[in-house]
Amino acid sequence: SRQFTRPLNDLANQFNTILSAVAGAERVFHVIDEDREDLNLRKEVDIPSIKGEIEFRSVSFSYEDVDQTLHDVSFKAAPGDTIALVGPTGAGKTTITSLLSRFYDANKGTILIDGNDITEITRSSLRKQMGVVIQDSVLFHTTVRENIRYGKLDASDADVIEAAKEANAHSFIMKLPEGYDTLLHSDGRDISQGQRQLIAIARAMIASPSLLILDEATSSIDTITEIKINEALARLMKGRTSFVIAHRLNTIRNANLIVVLHEGKIIEQGTHKQLLKQGGMYAKLHETQSGNDTRGSVLEH
Ligand code: ADP
Repeated sequence: SRQFTRPLNDLANQFNTILSAVAGAERVFHVIDEDREDLNLRKEVDIPSIKGEIEFRSVSFSYEDVDQTLHDVSFKAAPGDTIALVGPTGAGKTTITSLLSRFYDANKGTILIDGNDITEITRSSLRKQMGVVIQDSVLFHTTVRENIRYGKLDASDADVIEAAKEANAHSFIMKLPEGYDTLLHSDGRDISQGQRQLIAIARAMIASPSLLILDEATSSIDTITEIKINEALARLMKGRTSFVIAHRLNTIRNANLIVVLHEGKIIEQGTHKQLLKQGGMYAKLHETQSGNDTRGSVLEH
């Protein structure tokens, strides 16, 4: 299942592994963006406060001139919605999130954020309000406290603890040898993968973004930590427009909008109920899945 993390990691590696693994990464993007925005002749303005209405209007995109990666993708999400992106590897899920964070701009069509054309919004103001939580979240060789504070550099110690509590990370942190002052290694050897994710969630929590991009864990994490992660993610997603590269049937089932992608095209979209009723691909996959456990995998094959 590691293959599902690959695209987002590639995305992160494009600039530096650190970048998209953190919430509120605008500081790191800054240098790159300055260059780009200098070259950009279009007038871009800061968007001070994103509500979270997102619309893709006939968006097409290709990485190179050859194959089109996204074909005529259209969907609309209201502020606070959870949008589950499902489909096999290579279907275009990550590409949608890359366009949303303006790593690339669409070749055709328009992406609107609160009704504004995304290409008229500065990358810095966009990303300041965007949080990303991926599976292999990056840690820095510093204390737990600073690892969380990275989401918002001017956060107080009390804010850090508050965010950790919200993220279900506080109790395990308190059991570490030095609590919040425990030094972590960037390779994550000190704590489990699940605990790393809880720290990443705390980091996103403290940044308090309006838009979220999440890549759900598929790797084996013990059940108790998994419950903690899911609970923390639910809290993080509340009131925020969230794009989830979804692997878990439960997440998909509860999404406000399920976007089923295949070879860069949306083949179906709607809620779980609507899609089941429609009796198409999603319904078929769901039927095959029934009886299996809820760690959805069928929707990816
Ligand atoms: P998913 O997230 O659904 O697995 P992706 O959006 O990562 O799909 O990929 C969609 C298609 O775009 C795939 O064919 C993939 O190989 C291609 N692709 C992804 N990233 C790049 C890139 N940086 N350069 C060229 N092609 C890419």
